[in-house]
Amino acid sequence: MTAKQLNFTNMRTTLRRNLYNKLDDLMKVTGLEDIVSPGDKVAIKLHFGEEGNTSFIRPIFVRRVVEAVKALGGHPFITDTNTLYVGSRTDAVNHLTTAITHGFDYAVVGAPLIIADGLRGSSGVEVDIPGEHYSKVEIAAGIAQADVLIALTHFKGHEISGFGGALKNLGMGCSTRAGKLDMHSGISPKVKAKLCVGCAQCLRWCAHGAIAVKDKKAKIDKELCAGCGECILSCPEHAIMIQWATGPREMQEKMVEFAMGAMKEKEQKSLFISFITQVSPSCDCASNNDTPVVADIGILAGRDPVAMDQCSIDMVNNAQGLVGSALKSGHEPGGDKFGGVHPNADWRIQLDHAEKLGFGSRVYQLTELE
Ligand code: SF4
Ligand code: SF4
Repeated sequence: MTAKQLNFTNMRTTLRRNLYNKLDDLMKVTGLEDIVSPGDKVAIKLHFGEEGNTSFIRPIFVRRVVEAVKALGGHPFITDTNTLYVGSRTDAVNHLTTAITHGFDYAVVGAPLIIADGLRGSSGVEVDIPGEHYSKVEIAAGIAQADVLIALTHFKGHEISGFGGALKNLGMGCSTRAGKLDMHSGISPKVKAKLCVGCAQCLRWCAHGAIAVKDKKAKIDKELCAGCGECILSCPEHAIMIQWATGPREMQEKMVEFAMGAMKEKEQKSLFISFITQVSPSCDCASNNDTPVVADIGILAGRDPVAMDQCSIDMVNNAQGLVGSALKSGHEPGGDKFGGVHPNADWRIQLDHAEKLGFGSRVYQLTELE
């Protein structure tokens, strides 16, 4: 397996060389100018953070990436997709409001914000992939139709995938609501009868005629349900529940296959930057972020998302775990940090599956910038 080149900078700075300078250099040595051509629509994919979360990538770093893309003649926009669950980023209106509240505004980042899967998370494009779970996946239109994909990832822990890195940013983060539902559930949502008041609002959102109201209670017909997830948002009583039926292995493998779809035809037009900072034990989709499990490590850049995640987890695991964090074990350098927080979520599954499908390499060569 060929070693993939990755570039890294630690967090040390001087008065003459701050983190912006280091980020600029990272983009340069990783080949930003090879992937952006004048006139390209450049999707800068990141996570704007759920309301209450504060560990998302700072907008001012995003601006630096936007400026570098513009200097090459590209037309950047910053983007994410709506969440499957009901929260502060469930639809484009709330999502944009949350993003702007967190500082992701044109005035700060210098580029427009686009929610890539549209108002309600249903705007997608099907792409063919050579997966084991899927031969086609639905990718958010705003990402599928972009010329270039730059994924800015906050590397942290995750309850189901062990860690959330570049693969998760691509796979879960670039899919439509239907894709997210299939990755997480694989079965139709369920109505919690106790909460349902029989208002029938959900019926008009189901394009497949899968919901009926009888005796003032809605019911979903599993045979007719297409798994689009539209109804989950439609219920004012929050009575329509996702059935979190997929285990860590299936979810991670499916997520990797969606990541392949997100990169389809952009293999030579994509670049990854991971901020291994504020490494919280759980996802930025949570409305909080707990104490980091390790001290800030640095910023990593590369062209292979699999190598990026392998290197990121190696760096986190090689660090000293922080006393007083959520870590229950693995504090010593070399200890499994996320295994110490989420013992039932083996992060190796996503890397194994990606490598098995030939999507990327876990072998890397690391160059540290001055
Ligand atoms: S919208 Fe909600 S409360 Fe109304 S019928 Fe559907 S499930 Fe029941
Ligand atoms: S998931 Fe989609 S197809 Fe299934 S019941 Fe809900 S709206 Fe209808």
